[in-house]
Parts: sequence; C-alpha cells; structure tokens
Amino acid sequence: MDIDCVFDDALAQEMAQYLKNKGHTITVQNSTITTKSDPIDDVVNFSVETNRQDYQINFFENTLIFSRKIPIEKIGLISCKQCGFLAQNKSDLELHQNVHMPKSQIRRK
Ligand SMILES: [Zn+2]
Repeated sequence: MDIDCVFDDALAQEMAQYLKNKGHTITVQNSTITTKSDPIDDVVNFSVETNRQDYQINFFENTLIFSRKIPIEKIGLISCKQCGFLAQNKSDLELHQNVHMPKSQIRRK
C-alpha cells in the first residue's frame, strides 16, 4: 500500500520514521511512503500521537491519502458552531441560529 502525504515531504519523513519504529518495512519517495504491510492502524495512531486531528485519512484505490482537512468555509459553506448545520451564506446561518435562541430573543425582520 502507498501512503500519500500530498506534497508534504517533511510529514512523509516523520511518518516513515514512525512506521519504521512500529516494524514496517517502507520506502519513501518525496511525499509518498510505500509499504507491503498493512499500515492503516499505525497511521491512525500516528495522527493521534502527533496531534494531527486536523488531518483526515482517505482511500483511493491502493493508496491511503493522509491530508489536512479542508475547512468547510473553504468550499463555500459555513457551518453553525452549535450543531454543524451548513448554510450557503451568512444570512441563512443567522436565520438558522435563531433555533438555538430562546424564543423571546428572536428578532423579527
Ligand atoms: Zn445550529
């Protein structure tokens, strides 16, 4: 299986060292790590132990893609901080957020 760190060579080196320490036999080329063993559990452990909660793991064919999550704001939606509701724009979000307020505080437009 290949692990693609998406052009982040330094991250690939760090992960490669971690996987080596866990007993995997690996080769690294730029930001891609190749291993014949199953590295998935250790990649998950790596992301936890190195505090990379803002990274996500995806699979494409025989490649594990380890990449930074794209904030929802970057793909044109904004989310409600309280419940995760996705709104197209700020006024939709404000309208939605009325549901979290006590009824007496809702401003009528
Ligand atoms: Zn909400």
